Amino acid sequence: MILLDKCPICSGGNLLKKLDCIDHSTSKEKFTIVSCETCDFSFTNPRPKENSLGEYYKSDMYISHTNNTKGLFNWMYHTVRKYAIGTKLNLLKRISKNKNHLDIGCGTGEFLSACKNAGYNTKGIEPSELAREQAIKKFNLSVSENTNLDQFKNDQFDSISMWHVLEHVPALNKTIEEFNRILSENGKVIIAVPNHKSWDAKYYKEFWAGWDVPIHLWHFSKISIEKLFLKYNFKLIENKAMQFDSFYVSLLSEEFKTGKKNFITGFIIGLMSNIIGIFTKRGHSSIIYVFEKRETHFKMF
Ligand SMILES: [Zn+2]
Repeated sequence: MILLDKCPICSGGNLLKKLDCIDHSTSKEKFTIVSCETCDFSFTNPRPKENSLGEYYKSDMYISHTNNTKGLFNWMYHTVRKYAIGTKLNLLKRISKNKNHLDIGCGTGEFLSACKNAGYNTKGIEPSELAREQAIKKFNLSVSENTNLDQFKNDQFDSISMWHVLEHVPALNKTIEEFNRILSENGKVIIAVPNHKSWDAKYYKEFWAGWDVPIHLWHFSKISIEKLFLKYNFKLIENKAMQFDSFYVSLLSEEFKTGKKNFITGFIIGLMSNIIGIFTKRGHSSIIYVFEKRETHFKMF
């Protein structure tokens, strides 16, 4: 286990225990989430060492999602995913007319393939061998196993996307610093992460599926993610709700809380969270943030 004694965003040393969560999906172990008193950033602390994190990932995660088309839940999952890919692509088209796109954690490649078909010059990163092979075989994509961004040249990309991936990345500061280096001027970063300030998170408390310890190392809010990117000269230019995630996360949380699949309750909580997300500052269960790389104005000489 690794224990962080400082906040990775503001370097503050006053870390308060926020709550204990169980790893519901794999190990059933208990993990603690702390919150920085200075900047309110939350993170799983202590967390497993980087080389043992792999044990906490469900090995059949991609297979169960992609190959099983039976049942209402899977039918819904596939239908929603198709719709979500269209929405994500439209967002990318709107913010980046340029053509070099990197998708980090591209999974089985559905989104990246849609980008490629829309004319983008694409590159993917996916550490899971099973998912990566499927992306390469099925969509003929260029996907790297290597998660280290030093394999890329300065200004190589015009846009980067990370769909529910940043919360899994151990080297938080280094990653954003590298984004700045590998992006061209005014390059865009699209980041989707769970939002623990949402109403469904408050409702489910330690059962909220968005905590997903220990594989979710970082728990972002709008304020903390904005602060993190600002350190590396990125400006938040847009944020968007992911409304379907509220339902998915609530159904899963309901199962963690009660041990049963309560579709109706999960649906109602998801709907409530979306409505409250629209009318208050809490925000939705998951949020897409768009950051823009700003020019460096001052150079010391
Ligand atoms: Zn802090």
